[in-house]
Amino acid sequence: MTAAAGSFYDPANGDFEAVDGESLPLMRARRLRRRRQTMILASASHVINIALLGAFAVAGTISSTLVAVFALCAACKVATFVAISESGLSDRWKDHFLAGPYTAATCALMLAFIYAAPAVAVIFLCAFFIIANVIAFRAEPRRGAIACAIMIGSVVTLYLTADLPISLPSSSPLERFATLLTFAATLARIMFINIFASQLRDNLYRRSAELESAYKRIEELAEVDELTGALNRRSIMRLLDDEVVRCQQSDVACSVALIDLDLFKQINDKFGHLIGDEVLRTFAISIFANIRGIDKFGRYGGEEFLLVLPDTSHDSATRMLDRLRTIIETLDWSAFSEGLTVTISAGVATLRQSETSESLLARADIALYAAKEHGRNRIAAA
Ligand code: GH3
Ligand code: MG
Ligand code: MG
Repeated sequence: MTAAAGSFYDPANGDFEAVDGESLPLMRARRLRRRRQTMILASASHVINIALLGAFAVAGTISSTLVAVFALCAACKVATFVAISESGLSDRWKDHFLAGPYTAATCALMLAFIYAAPAVAVIFLCAFFIIANVIAFRAEPRRGAIACAIMIGSVVTLYLTADLPISLPSSSPLERFATLLTFAATLARIMFINIFASQLRDNLYRRSAELESAYKRIEELAEVDELTGALNRRSIMRLLDDEVVRCQQSDVACSVALIDLDLFKQINDKFGHLIGDEVLRTFAISIFANIRGIDKFGRYGGEEFLLVLPDTSHDSATRMLDRLRTIIETLDWSAFSEGLTVTISAGVATLRQSETSESLLARADIALYAAKEHGRNRIAAA
């Protein structure tokens, strides 16, 4: 069973962590690993806060009981989220990190201790900077902005309603040291979060560049044009080169035709791109059904196709192309859409002695241009 098929949050519909085709147990294990990492970082941040409170207790600003109470509250909060995470319960939510509830709980803890210990409120106020950075890094912009507005509103409301003093402990060298330590620890954590975020962005950028080049490579390796089932440009050009060499060596005739759908832009404009695609597919199928096994047919680009006709004289090639032209013209295209008609024009060229494939193609292209010039729905010979 893949992750997408599970009863848990469907990663195919928006989980940015989802890995295609990953099994459910693997996905859960990977998510758990990431939650553990996050919990370790969050706990480390709390340990820093406890150490800072400890410094203020040593300086005599607060009692050591307050430090113990804060440590207990923080431990209870982390333990609750660890229990939810380890039990697998969090996998039931889209946000399996429970970032929203965790942030809310942390903010509530900080507000409670601003109220309980206003003398060292600097520690808890600084914690809001760190929380805001985490939100900016993780949350979607609108939600982030709402969360920040709530944070600011709560702090301001608390200070205004509880009439708390706003102070920076600095009456003794030890207190000044603890206050400076608080600023230093805050800056360090904010730097850490931002460096981590920028590394993550770099990794994502590199991964997407790698994916793009891998995709290009896959496209190159593929031989067939996805839409029409004809050979792709690379393949048909390689076959043309091979055929030219073979014909030059064995001195047999070889012809090519560049076929272009007439006024195809108008078809797209009038009937829509999807019908345009359908026309290309049906055109290709009709050509395949009416050429020989030895002939090679590929998409040269857009609505232009190349037909390589080995062992075919110029007259035979022109006759063959005119037959194909009639087949396309007389197909019942109105089955796709009322009023739809499709015609093709083609330029036919036959290989000359010592001629290169480039020159052969150039002559076919000039002939195609002449067919268009002379009113379309016709075959012109080079
Ligand atoms: P002409 O008879 O002179 O060839 O006119 P045209 O309109 O066929 O030629 P033009 O080169 O102006 O337009 C070609 C159009 O083919 C424009 C392009 O959007 C469309 N086209 C190219 N590839 C595809 C495709 O894969 N699907 C669809 N639906 N349209 C395509
Ligand atoms: Mg065209
Ligand atoms: Mg064209």
